[in-house]
Amino acid sequence: SKSLVWFRRDLRDYDHAALYHALKHAAPATCVFVFDTDILDTLTNRQDKRVEFIWESVRELKHALQQQGSDLLIRHGRAVEEIPKLACALGVESVYCNHDYEPACIARDKSVQQALASHNITFHSFKDQVIFEQDEILTKSGTPFSVFTPYKNAWLRTLNDFYLQAYPVGPYLSRLATSLPEPMPTLESLGFEHSDPNLPALPTGMSGGQQLCTDFRDRMQHYRDTRDFPAIKGPSYLSVHLRFGTVSIRQLASAAYYQGGAGAETWLSELIWRDFYFQILHHHPHIAHGRSFKPEFEQIPFSNDRALFQAWCNGKTGYPLVDAAMRQLNQTGYMHNRLRMITASFLVKDLLVDWRWGERYFATHLIDFDLAANNGGWQWAASTGCDAQPWFRIFNPVTQSEKFDPRGKFIRKYVPELKQCDSREIHAPWLIPPLQQQALKLVIGENYPAPIVNHALQRERALALYKTAGSPP
Ligand code: FAD
Repeated sequence: SKSLVWFRRDLRDYDHAALYHALKHAAPATCVFVFDTDILDTLTNRQDKRVEFIWESVRELKHALQQQGSDLLIRHGRAVEEIPKLACALGVESVYCNHDYEPACIARDKSVQQALASHNITFHSFKDQVIFEQDEILTKSGTPFSVFTPYKNAWLRTLNDFYLQAYPVGPYLSRLATSLPEPMPTLESLGFEHSDPNLPALPTGMSGGQQLCTDFRDRMQHYRDTRDFPAIKGPSYLSVHLRFGTVSIRQLASAAYYQGGAGAETWLSELIWRDFYFQILHHHPHIAHGRSFKPEFEQIPFSNDRALFQAWCNGKTGYPLVDAAMRQLNQTGYMHNRLRMITASFLVKDLLVDWRWGERYFATHLIDFDLAANNGGWQWAASTGCDAQPWFRIFNPVTQSEKFDPRGKFIRKYVPELKQCDSREIHAPWLIPPLQQQALKLVIGENYPAPIVNHALQRERALALYKTAGSPP
C-alpha cells in the first residue's frame, strides 16, 4: 500500500517514528512539508527567524531525501486542504505523521483526519517529540502530576532502554517513493525574507543539530556548574532544534542518561521539564487560552502600564542585566534560561504587567518558542503556574546580576553604553557618583536610562497585589 508522510516539527530523516512506521508498513512512502498559511499569515515580521530556520532545515531534508532517489514535496497553502488534496492525487491509502500537542494543531489534525476519512484514507499519528506523553506518567492513584519532582522521579523509574531506542529508519529508506526532484521554493516566494547576513549564522537543519550536539557532548559534564551564567557557554543551545525536530529527543536523552554524572543528570532533568510541560498542556489545555493554572491567581489587578512594558520590550529599563537580556532576545531570537526567569519576574513583579503580555512578546520573538514550555516558564515566574515560584519570592534584579554576571561580561556585550563601567558598578550604574560618570562618558538618564521603577517599592506593591489575589503563604 502507498502512504504519505507529513513532516511538521520533525524535520529529519533518522529516528523518526512516523517515517519508520510508514516505510515499514505502507511503502512506498511519499514525503511532504506544507508551509501552512494558517500559521504564516499570522506572522507580521517578514524576516521571521523561525520561518528562515524552517526553510533552511526543510531545504536540507529535501536534499537528503533526493539523495535517496526520492524527494520532499513542498506545498504552500492551508495544510487542512493541501494534505487531503495531495493524498487523493497520489492515491495513497494512509497518511502518517507525529503527534503535535498544541490545541490548535490537535484541531488541525482532527480536520485533516476527517477530510481523509471521507476518501477512505486512514490517518496515523505517533509519539515522537517526547519520551513520555499524555497519560504515560501518572501518580499511583492514576491522576496527572502537577509537581515536577515526583513527576521526574516517576519518569526516571519508568525509563528503560526501550523508550530511548532510536527508530531504525536507515534500512528502510530504499522504500521511499521514487520521484523526480522538484525545485525548492525560495523564501521570497513564500512571502518572507532572509535576515541580516551580518548576524552570526545559526546552525540549521539536521547537520546544525548534530554540530551543536557534538559541541555540547564534552561540555555536558560541566552543565550543572555553568548553566546559570549567561556569559559562559554553558547550555546546549539545542532548543530550536528540539522545537523543529532537527534533533531526536531519544538521541539527546540517551546521551545524557548513559553518560551519567552530575552535569548529565542536571541536563536530563531539563529534558524532563520539557516532557512535564507538554503533559501539563495535555491535561490542562485551558492554559493555552490565557488562563492561569491556579484559578486563585486569575484576577490579579496588574497595573499594565504601557510605557513600562515598552521599555522592557526595548531593553531600556535602566536595570542592566534585564536590558542586556531583552536586547539578546531582540537581536538573536534566543535568551539564556536564567535571563528568561529574571526578565519574566521583572516584568510581572517589578513592572506589575500581566504575565500574558510577556508571554505573547516571547512567543513572537523566541526562535525556540514552544507553547508548553513558554507558558510553563511564564506561569512559573508569575507564580500562577503548576509548580511555580512562590508568589512572595521576588528576584532582586541587581543581586541576580551580581550573582550570575559577576564581571558584567554579558551586560557589556549587549549594553555597550556601560562598557566602561567596572565589574562592581555595572549592576547598578545609577549609583555611580556624577563626577565618575563624566569620566566614563556616561550620563544616567541621557545615554543610559535611569531605573524606570524602584525595586524596593515595587516589591512591596507586588506583594500587596498577590496577597489580595491569592492565598496566604
Ligand atoms: P539547555 O539548558 O541546554 O536545555 C536543554 C533543553 O531542555 C532545552 O533546549 C529545552 O528543550 C529543555 N528545557 C530546558 N529548560 C526547560 C524548561 N524550563 N522548560 C521546558 N523545557 C526546558 N523553552 C523553550 O524551548 N521554548 C520556549 O518558548 C521557552 N520559553 C520560556 C519562557 C520563560 C519565561 C522561561 C523561564 C523559560 C522558557 N523556556 C522555553 C525554557 C528554557 O529557558 C529554554 O528551553 C532554554 O533556555 C533553551 O536553551 P538551551 O537549548 O541552551 O537549553
